[in-house]
Amino acid sequence: MSAFISKTKIVATLGPASFLPAVQRRLMAAGVDGFRLNLSHGDFEEHAAVIASLRKISGEMGRPVAIIVDLPGPKMRLGMVPKPITVRRGAKVRFWPASQARPGKGIFLPHEISGLAQGVRPGSIIFVGDGMMQFKVKSIEGEIIETEALVAGVVRSNKGVNIPGYNTPSGVLTEEDKRGIAFAIQHKADVICISFVGSPEDMLAARALLPQTGNYRPCLLAKIERRQAVANLDSILAQADAVMVARGDLGIELPIEEIPGLQKDIIHRANMAAKPVIVATQMLLSMVDNARPTRAEVTDVANAILDGADAIMFSEETAIGHDPVAVVRIAKKIARQTERRLVKSGGVALEVRAAIRSEDSIDDLISSATCDVLENRTVDLAVTPTATGATARRIARLRPRPWIVAVTDNQTVRNILALSSGVFPLYVSSVSLSDRELAELLKGAGLVRSGTQRLVITAGSLTGVAGTTNSLKIIDVS
Ligand code: ATP
Ligand code: MG
Ligand code: MG
Repeated sequence: MSAFISKTKIVATLGPASFLPAVQRRLMAAGVDGFRLNLSHGDFEEHAAVIASLRKISGEMGRPVAIIVDLPGPKMRLGMVPKPITVRRGAKVRFWPASQARPGKGIFLPHEISGLAQGVRPGSIIFVGDGMMQFKVKSIEGEIIETEALVAGVVRSNKGVNIPGYNTPSGVLTEEDKRGIAFAIQHKADVICISFVGSPEDMLAARALLPQTGNYRPCLLAKIERRQAVANLDSILAQADAVMVARGDLGIELPIEEIPGLQKDIIHRANMAAKPVIVATQMLLSMVDNARPTRAEVTDVANAILDGADAIMFSEETAIGHDPVAVVRIAKKIARQTERRLVKSGGVALEVRAAIRSEDSIDDLISSATCDVLENRTVDLAVTPTATGATARRIARLRPRPWIVAVTDNQTVRNILALSSGVFPLYVSSVSLSDRELAELLKGAGLVRSGTQRLVITAGSLTGVAGTTNSLKIIDVS
């Protein structure tokens, strides 16, 4: 199996359709780079077992993958629904607090939202599951809300609830989130996603809960899914290690037609900051049931890549879909085709480059110079020994034609780098390597083919010291 499957990275959310280790193995073989565990669903025991299984398979296959723990945040949700409930359009559906006894016969949806009955009025619309289902409030009797289904669909446990105009709680971490962060740290998750971030303070509050010493430093990802987060994007980005265009809630909190433009803005600013950006929600949604995606979905995936996304994420497609592996295979095909176009045209990387050239820090000069050299057709591979991953990400955002092998002695840094476009991360026990040792290492890992290969090495004169990248070397290895 080639290490270089597609430069665009794929994140797969795990769920009942992908809990079996055999499926996880096939997903990794198909090229999944990050696995997302959504703490809104399932329990800690289940998630811990999945993490152990993923680490084992990743080690056996020699494929770096990021383990991504997504915190629930203050999201309003339904309660447990023992079996999926099919709802017809026009059906009478009643919402009731899950903490109380089920009131009677008919379609009842339990919810976990305190004060919901007092917060809605006749005419309010209750959106369920990223807005795929809609219920119009008819009347309210005590704690029971009587509604009419405006569209047909299937309701499952813990689906998210959005009500336009309803006061969503602020993005500060909930007690459940704090337990989630402790769980993520205990299992050395590589990435922790903070949901419903509204301000940079939300990121700082999460960071304060992370270990301050030692070499385990997880990546803190800000999910951009509220109006406030869009308004504070740059200050949030400054405190985040990565961002997600979380289109599910974003498309309800803001007019849905604003999503394409917002996606481009968020991606561009993340590229400028050299931080990984993931585009999420409904990318190949019809594949939950179908063998092939729609033309519109294929185009959406390609456009996210052309916008400059590092990674494409799947939710239902790989969590509850009928064929998670097929989803990843198709995504990889779309990615490879689109990347060819990106290399030819320069794409959005040209814009990023032009903006970077106006700055003059050593870091930016070195990454631009590296990319100048990488444009030469004789160069086969870029190599960057890196302590934090920053150098690799700074080069990667310029989307050079050759792959970038990032060599690091920190396992978490390696796994986080799996999410950066065009980067293949490699773990070594020490990064103080001579050129010859480095070449042998790459050969051993199957990253350098037989025959002469030209490598461009970007490193620090003090290898292993973060923030000192200042040299560029070109060597031929055979
Ligand atoms: P978020 O707002 O965090 O994205 P979500 O409810 O949209 O929350 P996703 O992780 O996007 O959840 O996944 C989509 C759907 O897949 C969920 O609503 C749920 O039905 C199903 N799902 C995901 N993970 C699990 C799991 N561990 N167990 C059961 N179902 C799951
Ligand atoms: Mg979702
Ligand atoms: Mg969400």
